[in-house]
Amino acid sequence: MNLVLLGPPGSGKGTQGERLQADLRLPYFATGDILRAAVRDETELGRSAKEYMDRGDLVPDEVIVGAIGERIDSAEAADGFILDGFPRTVPQAEALAAKLSELGRQLTGVLLIDADDDEVMRRLGGRRTCAENGHVFHVDFNPPEREGVCDIDGSELIVRDDDRPEVIRHRLDQYHAKTEPLIDFYDHQSLLRRIDGAANPDAVGADIGRTLATLKLEADEAI
Ligand SMILES: [Zn+2]
Repeated sequence: MNLVLLGPPGSGKGTQGERLQADLRLPYFATGDILRAAVRDETELGRSAKEYMDRGDLVPDEVIVGAIGERIDSAEAADGFILDGFPRTVPQAEALAAKLSELGRQLTGVLLIDADDDEVMRRLGGRRTCAENGHVFHVDFNPPEREGVCDIDGSELIVRDDDRPEVIRHRLDQYHAKTEPLIDFYDHQSLLRRIDGAANPDAVGADIGRTLATLKLEADEAI
């Protein structure tokens, strides 16, 4: 099972990715985590990524592609992998296909966990984070007992920079412009499977489970 998770920020990809990792016992490669770990461990990749990150620039495709390529080519990914946050653009998807073909492998499927902009704004924009210890609440889904106060340690709850409406809007614009073309890209290769991310996490998880069972059947038949 070589899987890619696709979808806008706030669609629940991370939550579902972690569940899948446990269910399928496959490594879960989230690009953001990989880059942060590389910087921390001061690998060659980390050093080149850090230069860009320190300047506030996006890490270029070839650096990210190199990092992901290393992971896919490692022993832990011999039975498969789950990618989240990569590919994020069509050139990255092309680089991934080239790397996989070099390794004699191919993608099993691409799961699009979709949510519309209003839903994303509501989910991310409603998050409140404890200023001291990072406990996370949500004004609609998980409100604190007292508005603006952390239930656990009584610290002030703040809106993180990432969760400000204008920042979410910008991330959505980037997603629509750069990542959304991947939907057609993978649909043309019959790899795309659509999951309604607006449902609750258990229902989304069940939908993913059914989709993977079908993908597995198709893959077995193809052999
Ligand atoms: Zn707290």
